[in-house]
Amino acid sequence: MGKKIPLVDLAAQYASIKPEINLAIQRVLDNTSFILGDEVKTFEANFAQFCQAQHCVGVASGTAALQLALLACGIGMGDEVILPTHTFIATAEAVSHCHATPVFVDIDPRTYNIDPERIEAAITKRTKAIIAVHLYGQPADMGAIQRIAHKHNLVVIEDAAQAHGATYKGQMTGTLGDVACFSFYPGKNLGAYGDAGAIVTNDDALAERLLMLRNHGRGPGMKYEHQMVGYGERLDALQAAILDVKLKHLRTWTKARQARARFYDALLTERDLKPPFVLDDVTHAYHLYVVEVGTRRDEILQKMKAQGIGVGIHYPIPLHLQPAYQHLEYAVGDFPHTEAAAKQILSLPIFPEITEAEQRRIVDVLREVLL
Ligand SMILES: *Cc1c(COP(=O)(O)O)cnc(C)c1O
Repeated sequence: MGKKIPLVDLAAQYASIKPEINLAIQRVLDNTSFILGDEVKTFEANFAQFCQAQHCVGVASGTAALQLALLACGIGMGDEVILPTHTFIATAEAVSHCHATPVFVDIDPRTYNIDPERIEAAITKRTKAIIAVHLYGQPADMGAIQRIAHKHNLVVIEDAAQAHGATYKGQMTGTLGDVACFSFYPGKNLGAYGDAGAIVTNDDALAERLLMLRNHGRGPGMKYEHQMVGYGERLDALQAAILDVKLKHLRTWTKARQARARFYDALLTERDLKPPFVLDDVTHAYHLYVVEVGTRRDEILQKMKAQGIGVGIHYPIPLHLQPAYQHLEYAVGDFPHTEAAAKQILSLPIFPEITEAEQRRIVDVLREVLL
């Protein structure tokens, strides 16, 4: 067996920026300003600028970003929120924690993103919002989603947890809806050294509400006066300092992911395998590089793992079939494209530092176990 190749290599990335990171951490330790303060403000300003948006509010995780964004948009008891059934469960959990109901929709099987053609059939009198997930780093079909939202007066929330720096028709994720949610979970394209997240918006009033919601309902400059019943979901200063260092490298890392993806595309095509489909008018941030390997997928996964290749499945169980959502009474067969994908997809290792030799070995092993 050759050297192990992980799905994502956080150690290689730290090694490439160690002095800058250590300096930033030391600065926070020396000035002991651990909660909010300049580190958080600086990162928020820089991440807003990166997204070409007016406001960024740093929060404790991507999950918190989703929940606070929904609350800030007034989503609550009795409301319905439309989202794809093929996503990480946090997208739906946030809706449930607002006492609203997640309403699942099937995917476009080419992109794995919500199929806009199926959204209108899911709209009822109670529908208040659509969460567009940019899964794997490819923006959802935002033009079509916005047309439907506009017609039915719905809020559009981006779940951009996997899509930092991706674009739709030249426009950055984070500015494609009313409000956008990012995760900085360590393995994400921009990853902290712990949990972290952010909400991005061009809406001044929404940003103001979000600043209060994340910080116990405190208004600007207030300590023991609380304007609303809020949450303790602030972004840590240590994580903000780390993220601000890493943000300076994000464009380079995204370009490297895109170059690594093009190399995979070529290797797969050479071997008569199908590379992932990408829409014409988007740039994909390649958080994950996902291929379909047919219904022997679980066997292929095990064989590749046995050869030291860190493959994964994102995600094996659609949300409508999760035990946690049994009470919504969906059934097998409700969303056939998602159910088929969940059985056949395989995520290949991708990260900026992966080498061409490693990619060749991965595709060679894949080809061999497929035979
Ligand atoms: C990672 C992720 C989240 C949740 O982010 P956390 O920071 O882990 O809370 C939400 N949605 C999607 C699509 C994700 O990939």
